[in-house]
Amino acid sequence: MPDREDRKSELRENLTAIRSRIEAACDAAGRPVAELTLIAVTKFFPVTDAVLLAELGVTDLGESRDQEASRKVADFAELATPGSPPVRWHFIGRLQKNKAKSVARYADAVHSVDRPELIAALDRGVESAGRDRLAVLVQVSLDGDTSRGGAVAEDVPSLAEQVAAAGSLTLAGVMAVAPLGADPDQAFAALARLAERLRADHPEARMLSAGMSSDLEAAVRHGATHLRIGTALLGRRTDTFG
Ligand SMILES: *Cc1c(COP(=O)(O)O)cnc(C)c1O
Repeated sequence: MPDREDRKSELRENLTAIRSRIEAACDAAGRPVAELTLIAVTKFFPVTDAVLLAELGVTDLGESRDQEASRKVADFAELATPGSPPVRWHFIGRLQKNKAKSVARYADAVHSVDRPELIAALDRGVESAGRDRLAVLVQVSLDGDTSRGGAVAEDVPSLAEQVAAAGSLTLAGVMAVAPLGADPDQAFAALARLAERLRADHPEARMLSAGMSSDLEAAVRHGATHLRIGTALLGRRTDTFG
């Protein structure tokens, strides 16, 4: 186990590098950097990393599997350095219906809603947890290959309607992952058009969750508001994508 201060220096350096990339991308796109929220994706990394990132000023953390996330959120609440600001937890991974109730207990936003059954299950989960409203993003599959998660573009308006109509959910926006092998600029341009159409009916749906370690610049060019950064901040995971 690396020494805590060594790991903290490493995370600080990575964070500085990512923030410079975001600033440069914003400059190039003529966008204020304040429009961008960095979500540090801590999946497969220990809760101690989440604690260090919070100490370094990261306010948003992302997780993709319920079992890991639910434990990490609970451990974080115990281990967080007293006085460090509260963090928001974003659930960004594929969601199974039977996990929705659990996710609704700790997530502040769910980015990966792609089918009606999840909407109903999350809505019930938020209510039974006695929580306030949960922010929901509809995940779009930009190449129509839904095996990696996301709804096809044609299904997004009706999913958005269902989220907006749910008593305990707030329609917050859309999320996508650039398809494997695709040009991220093309992919995120398509996402931006879709997001704009959605905002015509749902002006509150302002979040555009796009951009990861390898393609954040393209995402910033196309209006991303939330970047989900794992590898470039925390290092290589031992898993495959997911
Ligand atoms: C893991 C993951 C990320 C982070 O990807 P990196 O390439 O490690 O930055 C972003 N989005 C989703 C949906 C993920 O599952």
